[in-house]
Amino acid sequence: MTRLLLIGPPGAGKGTQAVRLAESYLIPAISTGDIFRSNVRNETELGTKAKSYMDAGDNVPDSLTNALIRDRLAEADCESGFLLDGYPRTTDQVRELDEFLAGHGAELDVVIELVADPDVVVERLRKRASEQARSDDDESVVRHRLEVYREQTAPLVGVYEGRGVLIKIDALGEIDDVTLRITEALASRGIALPDAATR
Ligand code: ADP
Repeated sequence: MTRLLLIGPPGAGKGTQAVRLAESYLIPAISTGDIFRSNVRNETELGTKAKSYMDAGDNVPDSLTNALIRDRLAEADCESGFLLDGYPRTTDQVRELDEFLAGHGAELDVVIELVADPDVVVERLRKRASEQARSDDDESVVRHRLEVYREQTAPLVGVYEGRGVLIKIDALGEIDDVTLRITEALASRGIALPDAATR
């Protein structure tokens, strides 16, 4: 049972690493950003409510986000653990997640912070904007998202550091190298890759 959280500024590569780690550790990657985007695409009630916040680069209200994640974590595939990407990103969401996990006699094993220089992430997001046409990758929105991260999410790093569950990973360089840094850091915390024979 492995419960992980990836935290870091927009453009640090959380989504990319989340998919890889989920495959390696045989746990579902749960990205609130992806869930919101698919709701927007499918024009669900949740998507309609979330869209204006996302397009502006603001956090979707906690009331919507907390309900969504509670439902998702209650699904059967999370019994073997999970990797959270993009949640929690406010102190209220931390409280909510703590409560949910405590209700299940659980807690996060490791919080992985992807550390990246703001100039580098702005450049990465500029590239992604031209490749993927995400409506929130517009340059002024990107700057606002970084600001929201700095104000609302960055303080969470200190919270998890205080709990002794934080590992800091340099997010610069090749994607494979970053993945390797994470798996090595997890191994040093006693979280090994599942046996190759069982994969
Ligand atoms: P990034 O981390 O690169 O900004 P995400 O895909 O994680 O991108 O999130 C995109 C948008 O989805 C955010 O700007 C926000 O509007 C919304 N969102 C995602 N996760 C949350 C969350 N936990 N709480 C509130 N809003 C969220």
